Amino acid sequence: MDTNLLKSNLLREFFDDINVNFPTNPKIVKGISVYSMPDGLGIQFRGGSEKLILKGKNSFHIWTFLSEKLNGKHTLEIILKEANKNNINNVEVATFIKILHSNHLFESKNKDKDVSYDLDIFVEKQKEYYDRIIGLTGHNDDSYQVLEKIKNAKVLIVANTYLIPIICYNLYLAGFKDLGILYFENEEGSENEEFVKYTSNINIMTEVNISKMNNSEIRDLLNSKIDDYQFVLTVVNNPNFHFLHEISRFCNTRNKPVLNISFVENSYEVGPFFFPNTHTACSTCSTLRKQSYEANPIYDFLYQNNLNAKNTKYDSKIEGFDIQGFAGVLNFAVLDLKHVVANVSKSNFVNKILQMNALSLELKNTEIIPVLGCPTCSSNN
Ligand SMILES: [Zn+2]
Repeated sequence: MDTNLLKSNLLREFFDDINVNFPTNPKIVKGISVYSMPDGLGIQFRGGSEKLILKGKNSFHIWTFLSEKLNGKHTLEIILKEANKNNINNVEVATFIKILHSNHLFESKNKDKDVSYDLDIFVEKQKEYYDRIIGLTGHNDDSYQVLEKIKNAKVLIVANTYLIPIICYNLYLAGFKDLGILYFENEEGSENEEFVKYTSNINIMTEVNISKMNNSEIRDLLNSKIDDYQFVLTVVNNPNFHFLHEISRFCNTRNKPVLNISFVENSYEVGPFFFPNTHTACSTCSTLRKQSYEANPIYDFLYQNNLNAKNTKYDSKIEGFDIQGFAGVLNFAVLDLKHVVANVSKSNFVNKILQMNALSLELKNTEIIPVLGCPTCSSNN
């Protein structure tokens, strides 16, 4: 068998393989920048899941031909026939197309969807981004599906009052539309305190001041609300860990994932993202692990018990926070949350805490493995 025929048969097998999922009318995804380098150095494709450079003496010639054909209006067969007519080597053209497809540079489906989506500039830019990288993610047909999933997700926020506007606005920019808010002031509570929700575009499904509530009252409240939500996001300035553990324990019993952001003195932390019944570490596991490697765990233990004895949700004596330090970890959390919600990727905060020092900008990743016999999640360990 001559080499050309062999190659051609191998390529046919590739394109015909149902698992390869080659589009009927291949079309380069939107938003890709193609640059032909001088002196025959090759062609660069930028903006996809990874930078691609195609070299070879004929690459320029082939691309000049293909760039007019890969527009969703021609089948592979027609493209190859056309190549033949133009005296361009079929095998080389097919190989070129194969590489583009393997690098997720073709739109997965050949459908013209109506753009009747209520896109603002930020969501539109996100859509364009997902158009380019969607091939890598595998679980969504198109960028609309990603945006739709984010839009439909309902997140319950448990946070200090003054953090609410930043959290809401950030989630809004990410495309979330329906949120619930359980907020609290200092330990005395203040029912008159107003906070700005920042944007009227968000539908607030729940809004309850839990300042004066004890654990059992919070459990009752969560019990009546939790079914409306898929995820819980706790954001607390110098938390009483017992309070966080209480939330995790509740989420564990109701199978709701919970992602935590905390300020621990001057360290801004995100994680862990706890998924009940999946052997992932919860915030209690994280506290227990920290206690096991810290030099003097007794100090933290006593301090936390003291906070709990006063029935506080956080240490209100430590005042102030750095807004950019907070926004930094919040952005990581929201990025992770929306990718989990939309099946774009797995969470990067499972069994993990990312700490940021706002002064040195030092970032530290700590692995937290689930603790056997953890009082919060042990029934699943
Ligand atoms: Zn645990």
